[in-house]
Amino acid sequence: MNDTALASRTASSQKTEHFDVLIVGAGISGVGGAYHLTQQCPEKTYVILETQDSYGGTWWTHKYPGIRSDSDLHTFGYRFKPWTSAPIASADEIRKYMGDVIAENGIDQHIRYHHKVTTATWSSAEKLWTIEALNKTTGDTQRFTANFLWMCQGYYRHDEGYTPDWPGMSDFKGTIVHPQTWPEDLDYTGKRVIVIGSGATAATVIPAMAAKVKQITMLQRSPTFFRVGRNAIPIAEELRTLGVQEEWIHEIVRRKILYEQAIFTKRAATEPEKVKAELLAGVKHYLANDFDIEKHFTPKYRPWSQRIAFIPEGDLFAGVRDGKADVVTDEIERFTEKGILLKSGRELEADIIVTATGFHLCALGDVDFTVDGKHVDFADTVTYRGMMFTGLPNMVWVFGYFRASWTLRTDLVADFVCRLLNHMSDRQAKQVEVALRPEDKDMKLLPFFDLDDFNPGYVLRGMHLMPKRGDKPEWAHTQDYWNEKDVFPKINLDDAAFKYA
Ligand SMILES: Cc1cc2nc3c(=O)[nH]c(=O)nc-3n(C[C@H](O)[C@H](O)[C@H](O)COP(=O)(O)OP(=O)(O)OC[C@H]3O[C@@H](n4cnc5c(N)ncnc54)[C@H](O)[C@@H]3O)c2cc1C
Repeated sequence: MNDTALASRTASSQKTEHFDVLIVGAGISGVGGAYHLTQQCPEKTYVILETQDSYGGTWWTHKYPGIRSDSDLHTFGYRFKPWTSAPIASADEIRKYMGDVIAENGIDQHIRYHHKVTTATWSSAEKLWTIEALNKTTGDTQRFTANFLWMCQGYYRHDEGYTPDWPGMSDFKGTIVHPQTWPEDLDYTGKRVIVIGSGATAATVIPAMAAKVKQITMLQRSPTFFRVGRNAIPIAEELRTLGVQEEWIHEIVRRKILYEQAIFTKRAATEPEKVKAELLAGVKHYLANDFDIEKHFTPKYRPWSQRIAFIPEGDLFAGVRDGKADVVTDEIERFTEKGILLKSGRELEADIIVTATGFHLCALGDVDFTVDGKHVDFADTVTYRGMMFTGLPNMVWVFGYFRASWTLRTDLVADFVCRLLNHMSDRQAKQVEVALRPEDKDMKLLPFFDLDDFNPGYVLRGMHLMPKRGDKPEWAHTQDYWNEKDVFPKINLDDAAFKYA
């Protein structure tokens, strides 16, 4: 019996609890949402339901060696809580920061761990969501009702990563692991390791494992862009030396980083060849003169059409230079008993193969949504600015930024949700829904992401699950922080796109 069926069977025997707002997920978005709710809508009751046994989301799920952020914590951190350490942070440091936010704001008493939300059912007659969650500890189902649903469940399936189905995988006599489900007892001392993938995860795990392994190989089909530099922000260090208070440092550094990122993003579009040359020069700096950069570290795509990971102190490349790690750019023909046979005919031998091959994109936490008796297919909905969806009343999904720090959008969306909730109270409305206006009727519908602009593999694989966007600002999903930071606070909540009842 699956989780949804099990949940429905036991829910009827449980008491139902009611909250004004129900938040799904205790990752950086859910915890941030709870903070803003506490500050901006202090009279609202709320609960956070979280499948796992602790908070952190991404930073709790992933336990592979070296797990760290690939963007700076001044902008990945919340705008309201200063980040006081080096900009690139480990998962433990990020969780410590989130733990402080939880403790300082009394959020802990609102979180229910081991609660996997399985169904969400909206009734227009009652103007209420009914949510069923499977309690993973007891096996029982709890039923909740809520006026508003704040979906902070991230964008990928947490219980398993994506591993392609290569021929011969079962022939391999060694161990295959996915970074998302890293076995805590995996001993890789003195082992030969192949890491399949070229993204941020591969770039993190390789230098972290290099010291203990016999040999580690990054096997990639095609290269990725990286940025390299010191894991330090000089202006932050200088201001700290001057005794400037951390709140100011946080704000100044955020503004500086965001200013520089805006320029970088623009340049990546207007002068991609120059930006490409700069990124490659950064990598070259760490490698031996005769290293084949063209083959191994020169991507075919335009810079910024996929996320660019930051490599602190160039540690990945230093490992390659020192001979502990190597890079093979080739395609997999099949797995063998001893390792991997490549299309070129070469065989790589290994004791452990790490498949850093990405995620399963997942729309709304695999929760089964029903509105007035009708099952919801998100692919049939149109998004309002990447936050709300046609046909889904009283619900917001926090989908952060990919190319700027995710959390910048968490804060912006939280402001929007709180303003909307207060507006509903002022209007004495119990329901809000976005709907296409008469002038939107013939609007062209497009995929949730602009695939010419942003196209990593997991997005392409999961696109069919995602809502549609339109080509007008209200129905766009721009992934543009610099536009949204100005536009979101001014959204007219009485625009005809919002229907209240
Ligand atoms: C390895 C890795 C590194 C990353 N590094 C960066 C980075 O440096 N900078 C950056 O900007 N972004 C980064 N990202 C993107 C990252 O996912 C986001 O930045 C951010 O952490 C997402 O936060 P979130 O709270 O929205 O979602 P998540 O972190 O995905 O948390 C969602 C939570 O919801 C819970 N949940 C899901 N479904 C349900 C359900 N049905 N019922 C109950 N609970 C549920 C999950 O268990 C999880 O705890 C990274 C992603 C990965 C995978």
